[in-house]
Amino acid sequence: MSLDLTAYIRDIPDFPKPGILFKDITPLLADPAALKAAVHALADPYRDANLVSVAAIESRGFIFAAAVALELGCGFVPLRKPNKLPAATTSATYELEYGTDTIEVHVDAIHPGDRVAIIDDVIATGGTAAAAVELVETLGGNLVGISFLIDLAFLGGTAKIGNYPVHSVITYN
Ligand code: AMP
Repeated sequence: MSLDLTAYIRDIPDFPKPGILFKDITPLLADPAALKAAVHALADPYRDANLVSVAAIESRGFIFAAAVALELGCGFVPLRKPNKLPAATTSATYELEYGTDTIEVHVDAIHPGDRVAIIDDVIATGGTAAAAVELVETLGGNLVGISFLIDLAFLGGTAKIGNYPVHSVITYN
């Protein structure tokens, strides 16, 4: 990749709460060349993967995953916050620092054996990604890989997602 995408990621200290260094991707989204390069890089591991769909985590995962799906010629499956999806769903609940959170998927969005990749913008502690993996597994999907624009590797989140291949465009150690 010729473009240094890290130049388009802005650090916002103490957001959304004290002690968190938030990786703000909006400068990257605003730049056509950087946005294109990010989508290309996210799609790259799957060009010959014959994916049925990319499953993405609400909400910033959606921004990239729909573009990746178009680039790969596959479908898009939304993994959403509770009570957003209108048809029958299954859910996965994961631990947050304080309390829990839940994501849901339509039960007919992924069929047994479907080749699926999961996409999100950032992996931090890995709880969200692990819940996404659980949803794909519950529906019997064949999880081909999990991709992030940004891995905050110093938080060790990828250890939570088992033995699936993980691809990160930008890694902060
Ligand atoms: P986690 O479950 O801890 O891996 O958190 C992942 C979700 O929280 C991702 O979907 C990110 O969008 C968001 N997130 C967590 N930490 C950060 C951070 N430092 N900068 C930007 N986004 C973050």
